[in-house]
Amino acid sequence: MEVDKQTGIYVPSTELDKLDKTESNQIEALKERSQQPIPDPDRWLDEELSRNILLTSVDAMLNWARRSSLWPVVCFPACCAFEFIATAASRFDISRFGMEVIRASPRQADLMITAGTLTWKMAPQVRRIYDQMAEPKWVIAMGACGIGGGIFRSSYNVVPGYNRIVPVDVYVPGCPPRPEALLYGIRMLQRKISEESIVTESR
Ligand code: SF4
Repeated sequence: MEVDKQTGIYVPSTELDKLDKTESNQIEALKERSQQPIPDPDRWLDEELSRNILLTSVDAMLNWARRSSLWPVVCFPACCAFEFIATAASRFDISRFGMEVIRASPRQADLMITAGTLTWKMAPQVRRIYDQMAEPKWVIAMGACGIGGGIFRSSYNVVPGYNRIVPVDVYVPGCPPRPEALLYGIRMLQRKISEESIVTESR
């Protein structure tokens, strides 16, 4: 980059500099749009649904299938990931919940477990992963950083919670949360899925 002698501001000169500048503008725009948390997707908690026998049966069947075969996508940007790995390994064994298939492709996943600190630079990629996941999809915010930025909350480059970028269904506190806590969060999500209906699916 070159420096403008009058203003002292760096001016992009090469193609790479221009790409950097474009990315930086996109991140700044995302930061501007993401100052408030996205509301948690739990409207159904307050809704009294009048469901007939057929709808209830279809919901029960679909929800059983969905909660019993959640496939997490790889989204582990920092140290909470090690506790997720421990949860997936043989001692805690999330395959007991039908979750042993951890997908590298978001198109084959329906659960995002946000195991780690999120920086603004990574935020557009996390949103893109979420957008590419199959519907219906869910998000578990794992750890203090995932919930509210944790000890890095006041840092200029850390997103103060994944719920600025994606809607979060379950929050699992801790720094890091132990595997038992993550399993508890997964069980909470499964209970939440059991209550969902195809009528209220759009969000
Ligand atoms: S919550 Fe703690 S363990 Fe998890 S990513 Fe943040 S600093 Fe690391």
